[in-house]
Amino acid sequence: MTRKVLLRYSRDKAEEPILASVIRQTDVPINILHADLGAKGGEILIAIDAPEDKVEKTISLFRELGIGVEEIKKAIELDKDACIECGACVSLCPTGALSLTKDYSVELVEDKCVYCEICVPSCPVRALKLRKF
Ligand code: SF4
Ligand code: SF4
Repeated sequence: MTRKVLLRYSRDKAEEPILASVIRQTDVPINILHADLGAKGGEILIAIDAPEDKVEKTISLFRELGIGVEEIKKAIELDKDACIECGACVSLCPTGALSLTKDYSVELVEDKCVYCEICVPSCPVRALKLRKF
């Protein structure tokens, strides 16, 4: 199961190769979904696709290395039956998670979503919803 985790780097951790170190130690595939990290610190949103025990081990390791960890327990859902394909959400989505296909239907690629929620109020028919779990 894929779990999404927001890593918070403080200034003193910003230039340490922590992500590479965790991948090497756990041998777990980590997908970087979004990164906003500079010399003053910042955040990286990652997806970890591994069995439960390995995910827990990976999260613990980040914490041991001094990284703030917040598990993202939400998802954006697109109701394709309700969508009228107006394209409003597509033009606002900052990551390309929402896009128009060749036949002008709207596609949501969850792995690209950074949960900014900009798209939700933009939809005139409420076809986009934020689900918390
Ligand atoms: S929440 Fe933000 S990133 Fe995700 S689909 Fe909506 S606009 Fe795109
Ligand atoms: S804003 Fe709503 S109706 Fe318009 S394309 Fe996006 S999901 Fe569909």
